[in-house]
Amino acid sequence: MMQWEVVIGLETHTQLQTQSKIFSGASTRFGAKPNTQACAVDLALPGVLPVLNRQAVEHAIRFGLAVGAKISPASIFARKNYFYPDLPKGYQISQMETPVIIGGKLEILVGDEVKVVELTRAHMEEDAGKSVHEEGFIGPHGEPSSGIDLNRAGTPLLEIVTEPVMRSSAEAVAYAKALHSLVVWLGVCDGNMQEGSFRCDANVSVRPMGQKEFGTRCEIKNLNSFRFLEEAIQYEVRRQIELIEDGGTVVQETRLYDPDRCETRSMRSKEDANDYRYFPDPDLLPVVIDDAWIAQVRNQMPALPAQLREQWQADYGLSPYDAQLLTQDRDTAKVFEELLAIVGKPLAKAAANLIAGEFASSLNRAGIAMANAPLKASHLASLLTRVADGTISNKIAKDIFAILWEEAVTGKSISTVDQVIDMRGLKQISDSGAIEAIIDQVLAVNQKSVEEFRAGKEKAFNALVGQIMKASQGKANPGQVNELLRKKLS
Ligand code: ADP
Ligand code: MG
Repeated sequence: MMQWEVVIGLETHTQLQTQSKIFSGASTRFGAKPNTQACAVDLALPGVLPVLNRQAVEHAIRFGLAVGAKISPASIFARKNYFYPDLPKGYQISQMETPVIIGGKLEILVGDEVKVVELTRAHMEEDAGKSVHEEGFIGPHGEPSSGIDLNRAGTPLLEIVTEPVMRSSAEAVAYAKALHSLVVWLGVCDGNMQEGSFRCDANVSVRPMGQKEFGTRCEIKNLNSFRFLEEAIQYEVRRQIELIEDGGTVVQETRLYDPDRCETRSMRSKEDANDYRYFPDPDLLPVVIDDAWIAQVRNQMPALPAQLREQWQADYGLSPYDAQLLTQDRDTAKVFEELLAIVGKPLAKAAANLIAGEFASSLNRAGIAMANAPLKASHLASLLTRVADGTISNKIAKDIFAILWEEAVTGKSISTVDQVIDMRGLKQISDSGAIEAIIDQVLAVNQKSVEEFRAGKEKAFNALVGQIMKASQGKANPGQVNELLRKKLS
């Protein structure tokens, strides 16, 4: 059997967060009545002139700085000419030869491995309108028809292109997630994938393991969820391998993913740059970005997730995985910092576990954003402190968390951790006499496990510990239980 290697490069369209369009004053608000937010400039009606949106450029600079890219001192807008019903002006204003952002890189975490994804470029462009295919649209002769909504025409995009350096769908998804998290963190994109603010085109090819040259690629367009991205790549990889193994050849083309059937379908044969007759847009001057402007944008940058990850791993011994979870958005990072400020460095690891574990999964299940979390760092802090000073076990801490969480989401007044411990009698039993009494009870009715342990079965020991913890309703100090039980059995 031939071993195949997968090669993937992604092109991501991120919608830049601005009030107005990239070249006009029309609103970019999502969801307005069709065709109420496209103005004469967006449609390039005769006599209009585009004016570049300063905010869009600042977002591009901010992104470029965050990925350590080169910011072009003078980038050029070009017209990309093509016909499509959602582009009545007949061309899209984009950047071809001199994009605003050149190079850069992004770190991703695949399993436990950090991998660097090199970026080729990022260029500014305008979005097109949208074809609307809905049942009930009937043409003049009674035929089924489609509508065109031009509200999206002229919405500012930053298209971010990677080198062909990803080697699996998992890496592609990890990259897309890292990029999504970064652009939202920076405030340059709202990240709303349902509304199309972040969509990926996946370029996929395969080659025999060990071969230097790339295989012929296909480009799968407009993947607007991480799951679709993953499924589309997996399907496409299988398709290409089967095709080649059956003696066929991959043709370079643009394909569409159909999520209902989990397959990609040919859309059109691949066009190359010549087909678009690119030329510099005569209505727009070069975008001049001087050092002063870059410095100004740099001064307004928030601390970057990669910096925080590095710092937290070094200072608190967090794993790359925990560091990644805690920096997936600014709100999570903020809660971690607040919690840390209360409990101090020795409990950093426990703080990370609580936020990335119980806390994040409860928010997730309830569909609540971190920013609106009903429990605050102060609640979490006393939980950690009581575990650290031996008042409660980790297991009980989880139960108390659940009690506080329930109070919080049902709008009740939230108890303090100490109140819950007192009222429910959850204090950890650390009195060795009391623990020994429980151990004796349990041993008396579990002679079989005792014999098994004596016969050399370590598993039987763990079973006994489990029984003792259960008999103490989770309150016995686990460390002491282990120690005392071993003493008793030896
Ligand atoms: P185009 O301008 O036609 O879209 P580019 O050469 O700019 O083509 O590449 C677009 C994307 O395709 C980039 O992300 C690049 O990394 C990726 N790519 C190029 N060649 C391959 C290949 N053989 N297999 C997979 N991806 C590729
Ligand atoms: Mg492309």
